[in-house]
Amino acid sequence: MRRTRIVATIGPASDSDEVLLELVKAGVDVFRLSFAHGDIPSGIALLRRVRAIAPDLAIMVDIPGPKIRAGSFGTTPIVLTIGDNIELVEAFGEASTNERIAVERDNILAQLKEGDRIHIGDGGVSLQVLTTGKSTTARVTSGGAVMGKPGLSLPSSILNDRLPTEDDRARLEALKSESFEILAVSFVRSAFDMVSVRTVLSRDDVMMMAKIETGEGVENLDEIIAVSDAIMVARGDLGVRMPIEEVPHLQKLIVRHGVRYARPVVVATQMLESMTHAQVPTRAEVTDVANAVLDGASAVMLSGETAIGDDPVGTVITMDRIVRRAEESFDYQKWGAGLGVQKIVGTGTQSTRITAAITGAAWRAAMEEKAVAIVACTRSGMTARAISRFRPPMPIIAITPSESTARQLRSSWGVQEVYLSPLTDIDDLCDFAVAQIKASGLAHSGDPIVIMAGSASGGAQITDTVRMVIVP
Ligand code: PEP
Repeated sequence: MRRTRIVATIGPASDSDEVLLELVKAGVDVFRLSFAHGDIPSGIALLRRVRAIAPDLAIMVDIPGPKIRAGSFGTTPIVLTIGDNIELVEAFGEASTNERIAVERDNILAQLKEGDRIHIGDGGVSLQVLTTGKSTTARVTSGGAVMGKPGLSLPSSILNDRLPTEDDRARLEALKSESFEILAVSFVRSAFDMVSVRTVLSRDDVMMMAKIETGEGVENLDEIIAVSDAIMVARGDLGVRMPIEEVPHLQKLIVRHGVRYARPVVVATQMLESMTHAQVPTRAEVTDVANAVLDGASAVMLSGETAIGDDPVGTVITMDRIVRRAEESFDYQKWGAGLGVQKIVGTGTQSTRITAAITGAAWRAAMEEKAVAIVACTRSGMTARAISRFRPPMPIIAITPSESTARQLRSSWGVQEVYLSPLTDIDDLCDFAVAQIKASGLAHSGDPIVIMAGSASGGAQITDTVRMVIVP
C-alpha cells in the first residue's frame, strides 16, 4: 500500500492510449492536463480520452493564468550562450531561436526597463534587458539549453492581471460541462483570485487547487488555503519569483499549513527531472522525493518527466519505489500527535469544527486500539480528508454515494479504498463497511475498525458519530 499519491502530467510522450494505460498500471493516481499548451478543442479532446481510459482516477486540469510563453524552440535543445545578445519580439505562433525569442503576449515589451531580468523555463536560463524602445534586446546572463515553449518570467510589477485572465475564462467556459475532478489555478495571489475563478467555473463537483508560486501567494497563504480545496507547491515558478534558497523552507511551510487545514497538498516540479532523458535519477532527486514524503506531502508530481520524457512509465515506477521506501521511515505517531487539538479544518463553520473534532477522536481511538482501518462515510469527501490530515498508519477507507467524490479522493493521502453506497442509516453504513472490509481481506474476526458517519439526528451532511466496531 502506498499512501502518498502520484500525479503525472500528460504530454506528447504519454498521450497515447497505450502509454496512458501503462501509467495507470504503474500507479498514477491523478493525471494532470496542462491547458497552457495547445488550443482548447485539442485540450478537451484529450481530456475526454483520458477520462475514458482512466474512469476511476482523478483528472487535474491546470489553467495557465498570466503565464507568458515563448514561441517554440522546437524539440531539439537550443543552447543560449552566456554573453550572447538576443532580440525579443511580440509574436504568436512563431518559432524562437538563439537570436530571436518570440514573446506570446501583446503590449508587454514596452513595459520592460533596461536592467530587468527575464527567466526562461524553470529559471536555469536568464537574460538581462539591454535596450528597449524600437527594438528590445537582452543579454544571456545564465546560459543553458531550452526547448519546447518555455514560460518567461518577467518582473512581477508587469504582471498585474487579476484571475481569471481572458484566456483562462475561455478555458473555464469550455470546461463547464466536462468531467474532471480538480482545477489547478496558476499564479494565485489572494483569496479573491480563487473565489473569482470558482465563481466563473461555478461547479461544486470540482476541487479548486491553488498553485502557490509567487511571493504574494506565500504572504496570503492562510486566506488562500481557507477558500481552496487543495494546494500545490509549484516550485518551478516559486523558485524564480522567490530566492531559490527559500524553496525547501516554503515547501515545508505550505505542506504543513495545507495539511492542517485538511487540504491535499501536491509538491511539484523537477522531482525526477534528470529522468526526462536519463534512466536513473540523481541521488539528489531521490532524496528530494523522499523528503517531500517526510514533509507530509499528500502527493508528488511529475511534469516534463512524463509529458515529454523518454520513459514516462519507468519514471512513475521509480517514483513509486522511492515513495514506498520513504513511507517506511515516516513517523505516523509523531505527525498525528503534532497536529494536536486542531479545530479548524475549513472556514471555521460549525460543521467543519464538528468534523475536526470527530476525526480527532477517531484518530485517537484508532491509534490507542490499533485499529486495522478507519472508515469515513462521506458525501463531499471532507471527512476522509479531515482524518487523512492525521496521517494514520492504518488504511483509510471512504464510503461515498458520489462517483466524483470517489475520484477526487485519489488525491488524498492514505485513502486506500473507496466504496460506493447510497446508504444513509448509520447502522446500515457500519454493516456495509464491515462486510466490505472483511471481504477485501483488510480485517478479520476480532479486529477493531473505527467508523465515522453522520447520524439521522445530525443530518447526513455532518459527521457527528465515531464508533469502534469489532469485526464479528
Ligand atoms: C510550477 O511552476 O512549478 C508549476 C507546476 O507550474 P507549470 O508547470 O504550469 O509551470
